[in-house]
Amino acid sequence: MNQKCMLCPHKCSIDRRINVGRCKAGEKVEIGGVSLHKFEEPCISGNYGSGTVFFSKCNLNCVFCQNYEISNLGNGKKIEVEELAKIFLKEQENNAENINLVSPTIYADKIIEAIKIAKEKGLNLPIIYNTNRI
Ligand code: SF4
Repeated sequence: MNQKCMLCPHKCSIDRRINVGRCKAGEKVEIGGVSLHKFEEPCISGNYGSGTVFFSKCNLNCVFCQNYEISNLGNGKKIEVEELAKIFLKEQENNAENINLVSPTIYADKIIEAIKIAKEKGLNLPIIYNTNRI
């Protein structure tokens, strides 16, 4: 990661290996949940469900967030990029219609790495960047 985080328009310019910015995310990717989600919009869920990955913490911190425990309280676990790639491949194996990245921006750099790894191993699903405005 760039040592001065500028991944979103808050441009905190902090080194996430030793500090946290507005989103409170650290250096590693944190995920709050993975599921084959059949309750997204029908065009996204399709027949078998959308392969959602919910990322922990967020750069908006809305008090009304429907995923408050994940986005604001930061519930979740830290994982390596390789593990994230495996999750994408597992979703494909489970017939997900797509990979649905929920609030991914604060980990965008790591997600790109994970997608590259997964694509080398056969990932061919569409990727949904399911995010807030920033
Ligand atoms: S991703 Fe987080 S640390 Fe980086 S600029 Fe945005 S709010 Fe700040």
